[in-house]
Amino acid sequence: MDHQNQSTQSGIVIIGSGLAGYTVIREVRKLNKTIPITLLTREPAYFYSKPMLSTALASKKTPEQLVSTSAEGMAAQLEVTILGDADVSAINTASQTIETSKGVISYGKLVLGLGADQIRLPLQGNAANEVITVNDLEEYAQFRQAIEGKKRIAILGAGLIGCEFANDLVLGSYEVDVIDLAPQALGRLLPEAAAQALQSKLSEAGVRWHFATTVQSIDRNGESLSITLANGSIVSSDVFLSAVGLKPRLDLAKAAGIATDIGITVNRQLETSAKHVFAIGDCAEVDGLVLPYVMPIMQAARALAPTLLGQVTALSYPAMPVMVKTPALPTIVSPPAKGAVGDWKINSLNDGLEARFESSDGKLLGFALLGSATAQRGALTKELPPILQ
Ligand SMILES: Cc1cc2nc3c(=O)[nH]c(=O)nc-3n(C[C@H](O)[C@H](O)[C@H](O)COP(=O)(O)OP(=O)(O)OC[C@H]3O[C@@H](n4cnc5c(N)ncnc54)[C@H](O)[C@@H]3O)c2cc1C
Repeated sequence: MDHQNQSTQSGIVIIGSGLAGYTVIREVRKLNKTIPITLLTREPAYFYSKPMLSTALASKKTPEQLVSTSAEGMAAQLEVTILGDADVSAINTASQTIETSKGVISYGKLVLGLGADQIRLPLQGNAANEVITVNDLEEYAQFRQAIEGKKRIAILGAGLIGCEFANDLVLGSYEVDVIDLAPQALGRLLPEAAAQALQSKLSEAGVRWHFATTVQSIDRNGESLSITLANGSIVSSDVFLSAVGLKPRLDLAKAAGIATDIGITVNRQLETSAKHVFAIGDCAEVDGLVLPYVMPIMQAARALAPTLLGQVTALSYPAMPVMVKTPALPTIVSPPAKGAVGDWKINSLNDGLEARFESSDGKLLGFALLGSATAQRGALTKELPPILQ
């Protein structure tokens, strides 16, 4: 491999063109217009809003229309060098270089914004290889192609992404079956009463639920997929979407000897165990927390930018509620921290539900707001403790 670009030696190199990679650049450019920045990505390096993937059908957007800015547009806007369709295969922390499909590149500071992969459960059956996952625009375009002219979609996983796709697909006139091992939707985010309210609105919209079971096998039966569940029932479908969770991309870091746990381990300055190497976004584990959402990325990028420019800044996380984009019953959640001690207090409203997780002395530690109760978001968020002080 040739040494393509030695001029980045004192500059910043970013791997990944997702929200993390591009937000770091935006924040650095607010502070410094001239430091050389190079961004490399496997993707075509366009900018798109990933959260819109699960609302695109209802908002009548094609995958192409979800791209807000081309790679060229991003390069011009941010005054950076962008290498799209570039695969990074190794990091050498001693020589401060990365090996890429476009040559060896040197870095002064390296930022890993590598994202996460959808978890794929091992499934039996002759159509197990027809399982689709969606975690980027290209996969979404393939999904849209797969459902074109079809009627029935089965979704494995009733988490945030599964529920959002279920709602979007019924709005697009598809028949939707959702299968989950848990006894309820959004098991990690919602107390039972809130989940019941959401499930019932989504049922009214046409979603069929299969809880407390999983998929045993998927077989092609002519035009149909025959999905056998562990509880013995069979779901017939045209397309099978799996949305059972994410696992941070660790391979590059691990191979370079950079410490990893669930994510790439970073401290409050977003530094990995390797000097001059940082991680942010869905691939990163900050102080033991992996939070694969937009708000943590915005907070982290704001702290990382000055750090990259020499003014070391610690990250703090305020309470960061997450919106579940289910128009059947709009939902906002701020789950209590792991291990928090308290009880859910449920207040059912005519057109919604307020669930407050409170400590024994009445302190608000988390909430779930559904329907009309979402109006309380601002007021209740102010009462919550920060996630990382
Ligand atoms: C359908 C859907 C809906 C969502 N809705 C919401 C929402 O409503 N609210 C919310 O807060 N969050 C939501 N999220 C989560 C949010 O979108 C993500 O947390 C965020 O987009 C992650 O950004 P990222 O930059 O960390 O990762 P990614 O966007 O995954 O970017 C990773 C980048 O790294 C590149 N890369 C990886 N490995 C290499 C390599 N070896 N060489 C070169 N390039 C590499 C990839 O090509 C990619 O460009 C949603 C997610 C999905 C999938």
